[in-house]
Amino acid sequence: MKRTVPSIIVSVLVTNYPRRPAKVFDYVHDKVLQSGQWVVVPFGKTQTTGIVIATRTSSDIALEKLKPVSRVLDLPQPPKHYLKLAEWLGEYYAAHPRAIWHTILPSGLQAKPRKGLLQDSVAQAPAHLPPLSIEQEQVIKAIQKLPSQKAVLIQGITGSGKTRIYEDLIQSTLERGQSVLILAPEIVLSTHLQRRLEESLGASLLVTHSGLTATQRRAVWLKALSNTTPQVYLGARSALFLPIHNLGLIIIDEEHDTSYKQDQSPRYHAVTVAGRLAQLTGARLVLGSATPSLTTLELVHRGRIARLSLPTRHGGAKLPEIMLVEHHNKHGVLSDQLHHAIEQTLEHQQQALILHNKRGTARRLSCDSCGQAVRCDHCDTTMILHADLGRLKCHLCNRELWPPSRCPSCNQDDLRYSGIGTKQLETTLQQLFPNAHIERLDRDSIDRDSLPSLLERMQRREINILIGTQMIAKGLDFPHVSLVAIIDTDSLLHGTDFSASERAASLIIQASGRAGRGNIPGRVILQTHNPQQPILQAIQAHDWNGFATQELIHRHTFHYPPYRWLLRLWVRRSNARNAERAASEFSDLLAQKYPNIEVLGPATPLHHKDGIYHTRQLIVRSTQRKTLTDIADSPPSGWQADLDPIIII
Ligand code: ADP
Ligand code: ZN
Repeated sequence: MKRTVPSIIVSVLVTNYPRRPAKVFDYVHDKVLQSGQWVVVPFGKTQTTGIVIATRTSSDIALEKLKPVSRVLDLPQPPKHYLKLAEWLGEYYAAHPRAIWHTILPSGLQAKPRKGLLQDSVAQAPAHLPPLSIEQEQVIKAIQKLPSQKAVLIQGITGSGKTRIYEDLIQSTLERGQSVLILAPEIVLSTHLQRRLEESLGASLLVTHSGLTATQRRAVWLKALSNTTPQVYLGARSALFLPIHNLGLIIIDEEHDTSYKQDQSPRYHAVTVAGRLAQLTGARLVLGSATPSLTTLELVHRGRIARLSLPTRHGGAKLPEIMLVEHHNKHGVLSDQLHHAIEQTLEHQQQALILHNKRGTARRLSCDSCGQAVRCDHCDTTMILHADLGRLKCHLCNRELWPPSRCPSCNQDDLRYSGIGTKQLETTLQQLFPNAHIERLDRDSIDRDSLPSLLERMQRREINILIGTQMIAKGLDFPHVSLVAIIDTDSLLHGTDFSASERAASLIIQASGRAGRGNIPGRVILQTHNPQQPILQAIQAHDWNGFATQELIHRHTFHYPPYRWLLRLWVRRSNARNAERAASEFSDLLAQKYPNIEVLGPATPLHHKDGIYHTRQLIVRSTQRKTLTDIADSPPSGWQADLDPIIII
């Protein structure tokens, strides 16, 4: 029953409501508040930040039961799209408001802002931009001809001049009086891009990433909130949630990078969110990559994204030569060709990068004759040895297999377990090249503090051979690296999940971009059991589209994204049997309730044991995303959900 009351009632969106859908709660206040004003209100036993949605004169709840607003924060209102974006995030990723707002608001918002943390970003120097090449000019013209809301993919090989195109688009957006948001996947790349853009545009950028303190990040967020003049913002995926007014352009550099997917709730993907943000704000979305993701390419095929290509390096520079070297494990770690190439590199006082992926150490059984790994008949993923059982397992559907004695592909008696770790590789190389200075870069050997000094030693050429995981493949720019090698290319290509080949092919192409950046020509050596594999042939020809076409057909055949939506569900229990039981019960329930989905599992994921806890997972596939968000919305207690997982192991 409604009744009219004299006092002022404000409806507030509280940011820590822990359920879906979001709800608005009424409070009383002694003054009229504008919608969009930030407030602190009591909620449950705590005080929480809220945003005023409306002021009213009546409420469904008795006036004396309404609590007063605790405090009005002295902050400008968020831009118009902000609440809509938060609401959409909740719906699309089946996440509740507390998880969403915890992600999009900076910590300590209720504290008094400190002044002077940021310098004002006035133009420092005149813009310094070299003229566009004919190819770049054509791309810019083509973009201008497109409707302003059309998303654009700039597919340009490494060194083709994508950044120069970004600069032009940024400048014209600023001239129109609008702001720009640029996302870069890693701190190293973002720092590099920042320096370059500040010099070329003659203005300083507002930068936010995980390397900053919480106070610094809050300062950038507050600056965006109060800023009314056009500005360029740069950051990692979380920069999407800066409250930028009057946004005209969103650029996502290296859009294929897996770090654009957040691995905790809300498990959003920055490219998807940026698409929505562009729709809500009217900004143009521009994606850039030499190896665009298969999802993005599928959207190009469906006409949702316009593609513009830059097929050659700027100024006629050559791409490195990629050599496919047939090599079998029984002959040791290095092929003769690679051994010789390293010797030559050391002789000429140049440097070598040796890529070895840690993920490749998940033990799989592969054939030394044909290079194929033993795969699951049903899911086409590589089966993994579970040493405790002595059996191979599929991490999607949980099928088990006694290790076969002959290769299922070629019937040769040549199967062996593969995978040596980076550490073992380092020891082996040190024995082979005792005078070389060898270092290792991976998560176990290096932390954020020791990284700069390692990069400096590399720059000064104190390191001859750098061994590393994918960390070394991205963005590093050392002019004296003339050799890039991958020891076990097959372990990358035949990784354990549906997107393994895509990530591997992209990584190899990015890694080969590290060779020959200076005056000396670069060389890339890929060791493999079978150089004839079509994927390797495409990589060797630097033919990303050729690779993508093959791989998309494969995804289509085996019902993977971008042709199906995926939901990963997992449960942790304090003993294996309980986890197992919970998983099969939920699996049965799902199959009954939703006849149009496919449930894979219960399966035991790679990291299935954590102390006393045991994890089991289910993978659900559907052509209807809505079905999956419904499932993710209300799983049984103890279950976690990841919509659109990109890696399943
Ligand atoms: P990408 O971003 O595609 O890897 P870049 O934009 O970094 O490529 O360009 C590669 C190299 O070519 C850089 O050294 C850049 O300075 C140079 N370059 C690109 N476009 C131009 C241009 N229009 N005029 C002069 N140099 C350019
Ligand atoms: Zn399977």
